Amino acid sequence: MWHYKLQCFDCQREPAASEAGFRCKTCGGLLEVKFDLKGKKRPSWDRRQLSVWKYREILPIEKQESIVSLAEGGTGLHRCKRLGRKLGLRKLYVKNEGENPTGSFKDRGMTVAISKAKELGKRKVLCASTGNTAASLAAYSARAGMECVVLVPKGKVAGGKMLQVAMHGSKIIQVKGDFDQAFETALVLAEQRRDLYLMNSLNPFRLEGQKTLAFEISDQLDSKTPDIVILPVGNGGNISAVWKGFSEFQQLSITKTRPRMIGIQAEKAAPIAKAVKRRENEILPVHNPQTIATAIRIGSPVNWPKVLKAIKESKGTAETVTDTEILKAQIELATLEGIFVEPASAASIAGLKKLRANRRVDASETIVCVTTGHGLKDPSVLDRLLKSQTGYNLEITDRTSLDALERVL
Ligand SMILES: [Zn+2]
Repeated sequence: MWHYKLQCFDCQREPAASEAGFRCKTCGGLLEVKFDLKGKKRPSWDRRQLSVWKYREILPIEKQESIVSLAEGGTGLHRCKRLGRKLGLRKLYVKNEGENPTGSFKDRGMTVAISKAKELGKRKVLCASTGNTAASLAAYSARAGMECVVLVPKGKVAGGKMLQVAMHGSKIIQVKGDFDQAFETALVLAEQRRDLYLMNSLNPFRLEGQKTLAFEISDQLDSKTPDIVILPVGNGGNISAVWKGFSEFQQLSITKTRPRMIGIQAEKAAPIAKAVKRRENEILPVHNPQTIATAIRIGSPVNWPKVLKAIKESKGTAETVTDTEILKAQIELATLEGIFVEPASAASIAGLKKLRANRRVDASETIVCVTTGHGLKDPSVLDRLLKSQTGYNLEITDRTSLDALERVL
């Protein structure tokens, strides 16, 4: 591991790695891991398998034996020719993060953060979650032999994700309200109970794991940088981490350029997209956010300063999409490319369609859409999908009804 320090994103103060709370004690700003990359050369990692830990020199874990892993990362970067043709795009790729061990991109951050928790001697971990973080933390804490507590908004977590958390033996606490209320409760708990180690995306070690998404995209494109990377945005940790990853590869002269970062939010849960569109430097939290894309149903995203900086520095943008647009994109990706993602993930595709329709994306540009979670996590769309299929309601009992079936095939 190369040398790193923790630094406040706002006032640049440098706290110790073991400092609990993950907010700057002086100004309340977000903390960030900073590696000293000056004069550093690309490590000889070409023979290593594509995965999060391929890049271990630039991950903040000191001892190899601290690493808690379930083989995360190494997800497919799929060229989407059929969907691309439909959108008039020649080089469209989907980086499918649903291929991670618990079915979402969260595993990249979790393997690093739980390894750090182990290195710091922590025994109990805590998070608030819309579902994917909880599922990931539940699996990794089980793997590490730690106790795990998750706080979720009551009745608002997709069925597959709840099943994962329960199966891994975590303690589930349901909080009335939205994710934002669950997160507030987690912050208070972490403050009162110092034995509980907070694993939300305020934890800068998680973002370090997530930055490997950018490293993998560059490697999979033979050290070329895509022109545009499009991500769904909920709490904002992922888009910030991916931007950090592209920036570090450029500092190491592995790549020459950085992509434009585009964040997509659901129309009724879009504090970041609204701030970007209005060219404001701060967000206005959304109360009672609404969308079927539960993974991005967040009204007060904690990482917003990092997101606004990433979008601004990269000359990117943000866009909103409706639930109808999200569901349509989900089906298109599944039927045209064989890639089944959860609704929040499809927001990146829906956003691209909107940007393309408005001529804000060029036909010749290399575009990577990040899909963040597997479609099986959220089976709630099934009823709607089946109702739209002709023949589904036919009941086959004898040869006469078989004739009726012939007519719909
Ligand atoms: Zn500070």
